[in-house]
Amino acid sequence: MSDTATATNDKEKDLLKPVYDDPGIMKGLEKLDEATIERVINETLEAEGGARLKILVDTCVHCGLCSDACHFFLSHDRDPIYSPVGKVKQTIWEMLDKKGKVSKEFLMRAVQVAHTECNLCRRCVQYCPFGIDTAHLIALTRRICHKLGITPQYLQDTAHSHSATYNQMWVKEDEWVDSLFWQEDEARDELPTLRIPVEKEGADIYYSVIAPEPKFRTQLIYQAAAIMHEAGADWTMSSLAGWDNSDMCMYSGDSEMMGRLKRKHFEDAMRLKVKRIVMGECGHAFRSIYDTGNRWDGWEGLPVQVQHSVDFFEELLRLGKIKVASKIHEKVTIHDPCNIVRGRGLQEKLRTVVHAFCDNVVEMYPNKEHNYCCSAGGGVINCGPPHKNTRVVGNRVKAEQMQATGASIVVAPCHNCHGGLEDIIHKYNLGMELKFLGDIIYEHMEKPDAI
Ligand code: SF4
Ligand code: SF4
Ligand code: SF4
Repeated sequence: MSDTATATNDKEKDLLKPVYDDPGIMKGLEKLDEATIERVINETLEAEGGARLKILVDTCVHCGLCSDACHFFLSHDRDPIYSPVGKVKQTIWEMLDKKGKVSKEFLMRAVQVAHTECNLCRRCVQYCPFGIDTAHLIALTRRICHKLGITPQYLQDTAHSHSATYNQMWVKEDEWVDSLFWQEDEARDELPTLRIPVEKEGADIYYSVIAPEPKFRTQLIYQAAAIMHEAGADWTMSSLAGWDNSDMCMYSGDSEMMGRLKRKHFEDAMRLKVKRIVMGECGHAFRSIYDTGNRWDGWEGLPVQVQHSVDFFEELLRLGKIKVASKIHEKVTIHDPCNIVRGRGLQEKLRTVVHAFCDNVVEMYPNKEHNYCCSAGGGVINCGPPHKNTRVVGNRVKAEQMQATGASIVVAPCHNCHGGLEDIIHKYNLGMELKFLGDIIYEHMEKPDAI
C-alpha cells in the first residue's frame, strides 16, 4: 500500500486543509473510536460489498489505462493520487486490506477523496479493459463515511432537508405553491391564457423539477410553463411533497433516504394518475430515477414512465408541437452532462434541439459519451465552500476544452453542470454565457399566443 493513504507527509497535510474547515467531517471524526470504525467498515463491506467488490478489486491489474480518463488526474499534471486507481487505493482498497483497522488520519483523506475528488462521472469506467467501476467503489466509500457519520457538512445539510421536507432546500409547502402561482401570474402578462395546472388528475404529463428552481431559478418554471402552453401539452404539477425530483442522498451515501425519495416521487405521480413524468433539466435527479434510486427500491421496472426534458423537447420539435421562430447566430458549444449522455444516451437528441435553434454550433472534443465532467457532479458542488477550490482547480481540462471552441455560449441541460461550469468560466476568465435548453427554446420558439 502506498504511503498516500497514511496522510503523513507535507503534501497531504496541505491537501487536507479543506477538511479541517468542514465540521461535518471533523466533528464526526471526534466521536469515533477504533472499535466503531472497524465494526462499521466490516459490516458495510460484508453487507453491501459482497462478491462484486472482491471481483472489482482483485481484477485490477494496475495498468493505469483509466488514469487519462479522469479530469482530476489530467488537471493535476498526472499526479497519481488523482488517478482513478489512486483514489481506490486511498479509500476502499486500504479498508479491505486492513480489515477495517484504519486510522482517523486515513479516514480524513478517504472522505475527502470520495466526496470531493471524484464526481462519480464514470468516464474512467469506459477506458478500463475490465470495465472496473471506480465510481461504484467510491460510492461505497461514501456509504461507509455516511454510516460512520463523517459526511461533508453542506452535503449532509441537503440530505437532512430531504429527510425533513422531501425537498433539497427546505422549501415549505406554501412557498412552493406560491412560486407556481407567482410564475403563472408573471407568464400571463405575456401569454394571457397560460395556466400552470396544479393537481390536475389524469394529465398526460407530471412535470417535476429540483428544489433550487423555486428557490433560485424561478424563470425556469416560467419558461417550462410557456413551452408546455405553446405546445398544447396536457400537464400538471404537484402541490404536495414529491414534487422535488432531486436526490442528494444518493451522493451522501444515505441509501435508505434515497429509496424513500424515489418512492415518494413516483407515488405522487401515481396519486395524480398521470401517464408519464417529465423531469426538468437535471442530470443527477435523472440518474437517481433511472438507475441508482430505482434499483435500491428493488422494482422490476419504473412504476411510471420517466422522460428527461432533453428527450421531451426533441419529441415536441419532431412532432411539430413547437416551432423555431429565430436562430442564435453566435458560436454555441454543447456540454454533455454525464448522467444523461454517458448514463442514458441522449447526446443525439440534445444536438437535434441545439442545432434546430442555433446555426453556428461547434463541438468540444472529446464530446458525447467521452465528454469530461463539469467537476460539480456526484454531489461535489454540494460539499460547499470549503471544497470549492478542489473542484475548480481539479477541472482545468474542462476550461481548456471549452476555450478551444471559441464559442461565446455553452448549452448545458443540467443544473449541477451550470453550477460547475459557471465557476470554471469565472476562474479561468472564459467570458462565456451558459444556457439551458429551456432558455433557448423559450427565447426562440414561435409564440402565437403571446401579446
Ligand atoms: S471523477 Fe470520474 S473519471 Fe475521475 S475517478 Fe471519478 S468517476 Fe472516474
Ligand atoms: S484501467 Fe482498470 S485494470 Fe487498469 S488500473 Fe484502471 S481500474 Fe485497474
Ligand atoms: S454535474 Fe453534469 S457533468 Fe457533472 S456529473 Fe453531473 S451530469 Fe455529469
